[in-house]
Order: sequence, then structure tokens, then C-alpha cells
Amino acid sequence: MTVVEGKAWHQLTENELASALGTDAKGGLSPEEAARRLRDRGPNELSERQGESPIKLFINQFKDFMVLVLAGATVISGLLGEMLDALTIIAIIVLNGVLGFFQEYRAEKSLKALKELSAPSAKTIRGGSMVVVPAKELVPGDLVLLESGDRVPADLRLIESNQCTIEEAALTGESVPVVKTAAPIDSPELPLGDRKNCGYLGTMVTRGTAKGIVVMTGMGTEMGKIAGLIQQTEEAETPLQRRLEQLGKILIVLALALTVVVVLAGVLHGQPVYGMFLAGVSLAVAAIPEGLPAIVTIALALGVQRMIKRRAIVRKLPSVETLGCASVICSDKTGTLTQNKMTVTRLWVGGRRLDVTGEGYEPIGQFLANGRAVEAKSDAGLRRLTQIAALCNNAELAQDERGEDARKKKTAKESEAAASSGWNVKGDPTEGALLVLAGKSGASRPSLEALYPRVKEFPFDAERKRMSVLVSHQGGKLICTKGAPDLLVDRCAYVLWEGNVVPFTGTLKTKVLQANEAMAQDALRVLGFAYRDVRSHESCESEDQAENGLIFVGLAGMIDPPRREVFDAIVKCRQAGIKTVMITGDHRTTAEAIARELGILPKGGRVLSGADLSAMDDGELDKLADDVYVYARVSPEHKLRIVQSLQRKGHVVAMTGDGVNDAPAVKAADIGIAMGITGTDVTKEASSLVLADDNFASIVAAVEEGRGIYENIRKFIRYLLASNVGEILVMFFAMLLAMPLPLVPIQILWVNLVTDGLPAMALGVDQAESDLMRQKPRSAKENIFARRLGWKIISRGVLIGLCTLAAFVLTLGGLKGEGAQLVHAQSVAFATLVLAQLIHVFDCRSSRSIFHRRFFENKFLVLAVLSSLLLLLAVLYVEPLQPVFKTVPLTLRDWALVFVAAGIPTFLMGIGSVWGSSRRRRRTTNRISYGSSGGNRARPIAR
Ligand code: ATP
Repeated sequence: MTVVEGKAWHQLTENELASALGTDAKGGLSPEEAARRLRDRGPNELSERQGESPIKLFINQFKDFMVLVLAGATVISGLLGEMLDALTIIAIIVLNGVLGFFQEYRAEKSLKALKELSAPSAKTIRGGSMVVVPAKELVPGDLVLLESGDRVPADLRLIESNQCTIEEAALTGESVPVVKTAAPIDSPELPLGDRKNCGYLGTMVTRGTAKGIVVMTGMGTEMGKIAGLIQQTEEAETPLQRRLEQLGKILIVLALALTVVVVLAGVLHGQPVYGMFLAGVSLAVAAIPEGLPAIVTIALALGVQRMIKRRAIVRKLPSVETLGCASVICSDKTGTLTQNKMTVTRLWVGGRRLDVTGEGYEPIGQFLANGRAVEAKSDAGLRRLTQIAALCNNAELAQDERGEDARKKKTAKESEAAASSGWNVKGDPTEGALLVLAGKSGASRPSLEALYPRVKEFPFDAERKRMSVLVSHQGGKLICTKGAPDLLVDRCAYVLWEGNVVPFTGTLKTKVLQANEAMAQDALRVLGFAYRDVRSHESCESEDQAENGLIFVGLAGMIDPPRREVFDAIVKCRQAGIKTVMITGDHRTTAEAIARELGILPKGGRVLSGADLSAMDDGELDKLADDVYVYARVSPEHKLRIVQSLQRKGHVVAMTGDGVNDAPAVKAADIGIAMGITGTDVTKEASSLVLADDNFASIVAAVEEGRGIYENIRKFIRYLLASNVGEILVMFFAMLLAMPLPLVPIQILWVNLVTDGLPAMALGVDQAESDLMRQKPRSAKENIFARRLGWKIISRGVLIGLCTLAAFVLTLGGLKGEGAQLVHAQSVAFATLVLAQLIHVFDCRSSRSIFHRRFFENKFLVLAVLSSLLLLLAVLYVEPLQPVFKTVPLTLRDWALVFVAAGIPTFLMGIGSVWGSSRRRRRTTNRISYGSSGGNRARPIAR
């Protein structure tokens, strides 16, 4: 630990600390000074283990065993005098390597970019105002604000702590959170865990709020000192990638076995040993789908990029696959289903209802009782309520230049529009709405805080559902509390009724709760307000001591309109067989009203409250879970039970969360989703998906993309494997029939390079089929070859192989041939194989038939196929290339044969699919009964 005048950081007073670090303990560093320090000190980052360098990545492309064998065989053929062959094969190997390199490099780069997107940020005060900066831009001297759920962004010396506890297990191994203090500790040698006034990079704030000054950044921090030990490797491979890797191994063995058979059969039938060896190795290289893992990664990475455009940031790649299987989405209400733009529209004070006028954040409006204006100054209850609203508040209400300019606008309409949009809120929107309310009564937080300076805060937490501040006033002290009314009433002993403080009798309590219920029925989010004087000798150390014997003042109801796009998203979910469940801390009636408005709660759908949940055991919950659409007034720990119950019922659950206590549920969900704007660092770290805009519609977009990505992976697996089966079979059949080789080694390698490269990649970015979101979610256990994919691969592969062989035999005029006639027949077979694959690639776009999709929709695919065709024509017609690829130009008659032979597989299978699917459809309509309790079932999939 750095020492200033013989003292350690934890021993210094606030002033000593500020002067030692050249900063201001109130206003922080100036932005210019912070920028200068950042240049001098470098970023606040732990140096990461380097990923694979591009050169290494390139070299890796040639490490494949079969590629090495091919290279060896080529060198031998070069030495034996087949120089041209050898050079061409080497060129193809290098080109293949370059393609593989670009695929992998691109995949790695996009993964890295993704990681940066979810980099942490920090709340800091610079030049007197609060700004959120990327954590890596923090410098020593920066003033940092912490709140529950934050990861501490650098090593800090705390100068303020409000009930702040930090969990330092990552550093000290101690999992019990440490209660933090701000005062200097006068003991020079202290172990890390005992430096209670310090916060360390990478540790986690579990409760309360704090303010600290950065003393150390990056590798200089305590975490930096042990960085090498703790660098974790995030799981980067998806289950599908792992399964494909295993499949790849099986395919290698299969391809090798078939190759051996081909070579042996060829040799037994009198083919030259060396020629057969080279053909065998080429065939093995072509048949092994070495490009598969890279293309899967690219499809995933590109899909993830598309998701970012739709405001969903993937943190863990495996979740992309799981997204397509989601059968339930559990969503928070506030901010995700609703806009989180609150406006107080109604009050209930001392037994009277008041309506509040005005719109947006502009603090201008009136209080109306039965249509007659009420003056806040002359109404004790109203004055008290707005006072508490402003004092028990951490938000800021400010007007930017736009708003001030608006005053100068000509027309009233112009002015009004600009003025209201010129007001904005920093901090919690609920509290922002309360500042606007206070503003309408003529009160503001800064002016009130000058009269009632804050002594202490008991921060809001989702468990207590309230917040309190202790303020001093004219020598005395006052507790001001606001929170969920149904819980707050239990902490009150008196009520401000018609201007007088009277005991809070049962009858009055019932009246308050009825008023609360009435507001909730109108979908209002309701907060209650209370206060009391603190006796001089009384201790207010804990919330329990402070929030007791309060005087209840009144209620404020605020609207929070639903997000418009959510209506459609919920319909989309229903069509896609995904159930939407609302989980909220808000009041049951409010939640129910909003859920009905949004279409989440169907007729007969149930609403459960946190209290109901607490009274149930897991078995009882499991019985109800499928019928419950709304969980209200829940605490974060209930969320975990809900996730687990749904999972026990066989659902794949997506669950949103923001607060620190949501993290366990988010982690336990199959797809944990954190809020990008309001979410805490801890929840984000536990999540696999972060919503950049906190919007429910973005979850649905991500599910849609997830489904599309999975289908695209299936498309190119189908394409690659069917092509490979075709390649192997044409050689295999020829050797079994004691025929000459239908393709020479270079042609096989060429086919592998040209058809497997670009067209396969283009399939990876194919558009989704139009009914993608009208199908049921896929089962998480589904095999990649399910839904007849395996059959499609084998049937297309066999047909491609047979048709190519047929074209070869027809041109050869029999089963034997040599010289010019053989070269001609090989050229026809080569063109047929290539064309059959290029036609088949369009077939792969649809799970039904080639006729089902618009042909030119995927421009990349059209371009890829055109370029492959051009290369085919070049190999056939450019004279210098003919001896290299052992080809001759084809005649029109040849082309007619090529087209017919190449088109047959797709044509036959297309007709078969159309016929098969109409038969299946007939059968399904006869057998499947539609609908269920919530109408929440998708239509059966016709394939
Ligand atoms: P969701 O879980 O859908 O985001 P929510 O935002 O309504 O719902 P919480 O933020 O946990 O859930 O709020 C629960 C209740 O706590 C609210 O209904 C309100 O009465 C009270 N509350 C919310 N914010 C504050 C606050 N800043 N201070 C005091 N009480 C609050």
C-alpha cells in the first residue's frame, strides 16, 4: 500500500487524502486533469492474457493431420516429376488455409468486440457533476460513487458510507460482506480484510451506497497484484459447437474408412497405387468438414452482431442456442414492459383525493380537489408529502439548454413541446417523478436540503420496499420515509388526518389501504409517505430503529405507460409458443391491471403475490406454475423459486433482473437477462444476455435471432455434409464398379475449396423463414439432425453421388475408358458435381423445399454461387488452366447432360418434400387438437 508521509491510505483524513491525490473531495477532478492523468498512467485495466496472434492462427490452419499428409504426398509427387500437380495442390492448400484463417480471425474479432461491449462502467464526479465513464478510464484522484450491485471499479479509499457492505471474497476469500466505514483507521499495518474504509477493484457492493477516491488503478491495484492467478477463461464454446466437434471426429473416421475402401478397391481393380493414394488423400481432405467449427462460430458471431443491432448484447455465446428453445420469458415490469417514465397524477392526503396536472418532467402543474385548485403552501398535508418526496430522494431534476431556449420560442405550442422535453431526470425515475411533484408545489430538493441537511440514508432495497433519510432541522432531527404503502402502514403509529396528527386506528388504516387499492386498480404505481421527529437521546443506527412509530402522511400514484412495442412482442411470443410471465415488486392490483392491458394475463390466468408464494412449498408452486401469469409484490428471492419451479416443469426459462439480489435467479435461469441501463454490474455479470434498452421487445428479437441462427447452422451443416457424402459416394461407387476415377485429385480439392467456402458461409447469414416465430420452441435436447435433417443429408448426398456417376458413365459410354475420352467424362462429372452442389445450396435454405423460398432473397448466396460458377467456367474454358485441372471444354450437349444430372437430386427431393409435407399436414390436422388454457400454444409445424 502506498504511503503518504509515513501513513497508509487507510490512515489519512479526507483532506489529507484529497491533497495527497491532488483532487477535490466534493467536485472531483476536472475532466481535463482526468484526461491528462489517463494519458500518463494508462488505462485502469488488468493486462489480459493475449489471445491467439494472427500468425499463430494462420499456422494453425495447416496443422490438420490430413492436410499434412496431403502436403507430404504432394511433395513426393513433385519429386516424382508431377511438378504442375504439386504446385496446384500446394496453392489449393494455401488458399484453403487463407480462407480458414479469415473465417477464424473474423470469428475471434467479433467475439472480442462483444466482450468490449459488456465492459463495466463507473459513476464518477468530475468537475462537480456526476458522469458515467467506462471503468477503464478511471484515474487516481477520481471521485467514485458506489451503490448496491456495483463492482468496485478501482482501489478506493472511502470517504462516505451509507450502510455500505462489500463482499471481498474474490480478494480475501472471506465470503461474509464487510461493513464499510469512512473514518481514518490509525493502524499502519492492517491486513486487507481489516481496512474497512477501503474498497478494492473487482469486489462487489452488496448493500447501501458509498463515495470513495481512487487511490490505485489497473495493475497497481490489489487485484492487479494477483491478476495472473485469477484470470478466468469464460466458456466460449457452445454445446452445439462441442457436439459438432465430436461429430467432426466421427466423420473423420468415417471419411477415412471410406477413403481406404475407395483406395483399396481402386488398387485391386488395377489402378496405379500412387495415383490412388493421392486421390484417396485428396478425397479425405475434401470429405472431412474441417470448415464446420469455423463457420458455426461465424454464424454465431454474425447472428450476435445482428442481435446487437436489435439492442440485445450476448455475454455468453452458448445462450444464443438456448434462446431458440425458450418456452417462458419472465419479465420485470417497470422499465422492461413499461417505459419507466413516471408521472405522479394522483395524490391521497389526509382522506382527500387530489389530481395532479402537468406532463412529463416539467415541474409545472396544479393540485385539484374535485376540480378546484389547492394551494400547496396552505395545505399542511400536501406540503408535508411533497417535502418528504423531495428530501427522501436521490434523483436530480434539471433543465438543459433546450428547455431554456424553449422560453424564447414564438408559439405557445412550440414552447411547450420544447420545454417539457428540456427537463430531464438523473437517477431513479420513480424519484424523478417525485421531484417533479415537489416542483409543482414550489419545493425543490436543493432548497429543501439546505434547510434540512441529510445526516444519514437508509437506502431503498427491494426487500424492504422503502427508503428513509435522517435529516436535521433547527437543532432537531427528522426521519422521512417513502415506500410501498401496504408495508409502510405497518411501521406507522399515527396518521396526518385532516390537518391533525391522530392515532392510526384500524379504521383509518383500512381507509388508507382502500385508497391504495383504488389507485392500483387504475394501474397506478403507488408510494406512501411518512415521517416523525427523532427524540434527542434516541439512536437511529439501524433501519429498524428509525422506521418505527411513523406518522403516515399520504399516497402518491404515478402512471408508467406500457412500452408501445411490447404489445406486438407479446402477441409474437404467444404465436411462437412462448409464455410471458410478469414478475414485479409492485402492488398486486397495479400489476394485474397492467398485465391485462398488455395482454399478458389471459382469462383464467392466475396472479400470485409474494405472500402467497411464501406460504406455499415447492410442490404446491409446481402445481400452479403453468397457470400463473403474474407474480406481484415479490422479493428477489422469490424469483429464484419461480425459475426453479418452471424448470422442474420442463420449461426453458428466460428471466430478467436488475438489482443485486436478482443475480441468483438470473444465473439459475436458462437465459439470464440483465438490464443494460438500470442493471447492476453484479446482475450483468450473472447474465448471459444484456438488454441495451431494457426493453422486453428486445428479448423477443433476441429469441427470434437465436432461432434463426440455429436454423442457419442446420442449413449449412446440411449443405456441407450432403455435398461431402456426394463427393465420397461418386468415387466409392466408381471404385466398386471397377471404373476409372471419375474425378482427379485436383478436381476434388477444387470442389472442396470453391463450393464449401463461400456458399456455405452465405448460408450462415441466410434470412430466417417467414414462419420462424410461428413454430413451437425447439426442445433443448433436440439433436442437430432432428426434424429429418439426417435423412435429407443422406438422401441428397446419395442422389448427388449417383447423378454425377451417371453423367460420367453416359459420357464415357460405358464402365471403361481412357485417354481423351476419360478426361472428357471426368470434366462432365466434375461440372455435374459442382453444379449439383450449387443447386442444392438453394434447397438447403428451406426446411420444406426449394420452391418455398424466394430465389434471390439471399444476395450473398447468389453472389457466392455466381462466383463459384465463374470459377467453374474458368477451369473448363481458360486454356492454361485446362492442363492443371485436367479438363476439356464442354459442348452444349455436355451441358444439357450436366444440367439434367445436377438438377435431378433437388428436383426429385423437392417433389418428394411437397408430397410428404402435404401428407403429414393431413395427418396432423386429423390428430392434433389445438389450444390450451391460455391459448398459448403455437400451431403445429408443418414440415
Ligand atoms: P419491477 O420488479 O417490475 O421492476 P418495481 O420496479 O415496481 O417492479 P421495485 O423497484 O422492487 O419493483 O419496487 C417495489 C415497490 O417499492 C414499489 O411498488 C414502490 O412502492 C416501492 N418503491 C419503488 N421505488 C422506490 C424508491 N425509490 N423509494 C421507496 N420506495 C420505492
